Amino acid sequence: MPLERSMMTLSKEHVQRLWRMADAVCFDVDSTVIKDEGLDDLANYCGVGPQVEAMTLKAMGGGMTFREALTQRLNIVRPSRQTVENFNIDHPSTFSPRIKELIDLLRLKNKQVYLVTGGFRSIITPVANALDIPQEHLFANTLLFNEDGSYAGFDTTALTSESGGKARVVQHIKDKYNVKTVVFVGDGATDMEACPPADAFIGYGGNVIRAKVKENSPWFVTDFQELIDELSNETNIQKS
Ligand SMILES: [Mg+2]
Repeated sequence: MPLERSMMTLSKEHVQRLWRMADAVCFDVDSTVIKDEGLDDLANYCGVGPQVEAMTLKAMGGGMTFREALTQRLNIVRPSRQTVENFNIDHPSTFSPRIKELIDLLRLKNKQVYLVTGGFRSIITPVANALDIPQEHLFANTLLFNEDGSYAGFDTTALTSESGGKARVVQHIKDKYNVKTVVFVGDGATDMEACPPADAFIGYGGNVIRAKVKENSPWFVTDFQELIDELSNETNIQKS
């Protein structure tokens, strides 16, 4: 796979250098910025967790596209607008340790910060707000509702609604926001697949360690403190 070959050609030191010099950083959300997995948690909340989990496994084993898998899983949950609102109140997201500190430091160093997720805008927006990340820096899927608030599907024009969506978002960011070096941070295989066009990928295993990601990430961290320390190193280098 070109992706894995390109990942493997970068040394850990190279990834660390790209991290220090990045113009923009894209973070996955579920199991990266937050400890939660939005759709799984919403399914559990709606009492259909096992059914959705079974569909997820079927999708992973059956070569389903991202969009097909999302369609099938949402057809089981069929969340209404009211359900999502209640879920957000009853199940606020839990931030991964030191993510707020890390994002503040990135902004202090004039790096653009984006959230790029296959999850849903209506669930992730409170997360983005708490991190002072504007809506236009949040790339997510959008749930659609009928006039009576019942479930009506999801926006299939969103870049993140199809397989390879995160890579498309990174290319879009490079084109639209005129950024040169983009680093993607995430826990999952779809995050790793955003590199390229991302210039580097950093695997994060602070919430869940996925073997494929750990094996293929030249720089794999389990604590955001490691990323904070590396940025602080840059300050030291520049001062000396
Ligand atoms: Mg994730």
